[in-house]
Amino acid sequence: MIKEQFGWNRFFEDQLAGGIPGRVASSNHGRFLVWTDGGEVEASVSGLLRRGSGLWPAVGDWVELRGDAQVIVKVLDRRTKLSRKQPEREVREQVLAANIDVLFIVSGLDRDYNERRIERFLVMARESGARPVVLLNKSDLANELGLDLADVVARTAQLSPGVQVIPLSAKADHGLDALPAQLMHGETAALIGSSGVGKSTILNRLLGDERQRTSAVSAGNSRGRHTTTTRQLFVMPGGWLLMDLPGLREVQLWASTEDLADSFDDIQELAGHCRFRDCAHAGEPGCAVEAAGLAPARLANYLKMQRELAHLEEKIDPKLAKETRAKWKAVEKSVRHHPKRKA
Ligand code: GDP
Repeated sequence: MIKEQFGWNRFFEDQLAGGIPGRVASSNHGRFLVWTDGGEVEASVSGLLRRGSGLWPAVGDWVELRGDAQVIVKVLDRRTKLSRKQPEREVREQVLAANIDVLFIVSGLDRDYNERRIERFLVMARESGARPVVLLNKSDLANELGLDLADVVARTAQLSPGVQVIPLSAKADHGLDALPAQLMHGETAALIGSSGVGKSTILNRLLGDERQRTSAVSAGNSRGRHTTTTRQLFVMPGGWLLMDLPGLREVQLWASTEDLADSFDDIQELAGHCRFRDCAHAGEPGCAVEAAGLAPARLANYLKMQRELAHLEEKIDPKLAKETRAKWKAVEKSVRHHPKRKA
């Protein structure tokens, strides 16, 4: 039964209205591969969904299919969702993955290691509702790169409160056992990180004999190149699910300034001691954040993301304001057309 295997629970059960339940395993230009009790089906979406009524399916979603299992009629509300701002100019949310329990943020210890990028992914994770775990891959290169692994792990763990950090080498098959230990049967994880950090190598290692696709590393190119750009869900030995999120060149945040503050609890705590409540930590007198002597790059990254999110909120708000104005106009109009009758 897919429900027992893939994390179905009461929350989803209560939303089902008589159709067939299924979980979206992959999507490709409006066609969705859905796991159901009757097997894997390729489904499209109903006209209603296509016209923008209701949620659009994302990989990891639980959906309701029409009786013949060919058409998705409803996307069930999500427990968690991993989103970014759509890369185009339009201010729109793009849901990358749904119903993820653990987000593995993958970073290579080679030149990809970038604390600012990890901080960004951590804010994204915080917004999603999934538990972030940072994977520092390519630990086999630590010596060669002159890195003290324990030191890098400790530094990374300080980037956000309570975040777990796991060093590993997918290539040398070292440390990978720690990943399944993060998940219970039926839970879902996703791998996120820049291209070339080793996401597909990790996935393939974990899949082992049950490998469902070969590594997309092209011959003669040591950094490797992906041929797969779609997001896809895999069943792992041990009964948990893993999703690869390849091809993410750009992650603009789709989060709130609160998610940001939660991710930077040290700054939030200090900000409480600033002289001005609306202190921007940019040269104001009595600024406790600046006085604390935080790593300047961390503070700069925080301020940069804060500006980005404030801008996002500003862009979203006028839309809401416009809708509210339209609503009031309609009310005014109806009042004009139905003047009070004389008593
Ligand atoms: P992805 O783009 O994140 O999916 O990265 P890939 O899995 O395609 O890996 C990119 C390159 O890094 C490939 O050449 C891999 O062989 C290499 N790689 C992956 N894991 C490790 C590792 O643990 N150590 C080293 N040295 N190289 C690795």
